[in-house]
Amino acid sequence: MVKKIRALYIGRFQPYHLGHHRILQTIAEETEELIVCIGSAQMSHDLKNPFTAGERVLMVTSAIRELPVKSYVIPIMDIERNAIWVSHLVSLTPPFEVVYSNNPLVRRLFTEAGFEVRGTPLYRRDLYSGTEIRRRILAGERWEHLVPEAIVEIIRACDGIRRIQDLSERDTGE
Ligand code: NAD
Repeated sequence: MVKKIRALYIGRFQPYHLGHHRILQTIAEETEELIVCIGSAQMSHDLKNPFTAGERVLMVTSAIRELPVKSYVIPIMDIERNAIWVSHLVSLTPPFEVVYSNNPLVRRLFTEAGFEVRGTPLYRRDLYSGTEIRRRILAGERWEHLVPEAIVEIIRACDGIRRIQDLSERDTGE
């Protein structure tokens, strides 16, 4: 029996965008099963991390539905100790053989733990980036073309635009 390759991809997805999507389309061609981990799952309602883990699970699940591989979407909370973060993640996911990431810390930790780590090309990082999309939402600029259509609906449905705008306001006190 041919052994299946199960790959892992981790991101914060604040929000999920077309750069993430393009990579996952490529990974889906190279592997049989895909685990997508939602990093920093405990974070939400701040300007860098406006969306909850649940909202991000919905984003990723909706976007990858079209991919021709069996997928799992799993939120992972950060922990204070990098040295045991990989074991923490492994305890929460199905077994996997390959990790796809460009994040230097993520790559280092998985390499030290004995996993094969593969890099991925970057697609228009100036445009397809969570930072740029959040900036555009805040500035009232066009951002919808930078994410898959399903993500636009999810951000609107959770009042994400007003949430980001509200979070940027200063407490003027009363
Ligand atoms: P991210 O969403 O910034 O990026 C995810 C991946 O997508 C990266 O490999 C990145 O290079 C790629 N990407 C982004 N834009 C792209 C584009 N335009 N084209 C192609 N690829 C693009 O997420 P991240 O910061 O890499 O996520 C790592 C997560 O792991 C974080 O949540 C972090 O907190 C967590 N982590 C936690 C610990 C700990 O708790 N001790 C340790 C290490 C990592």
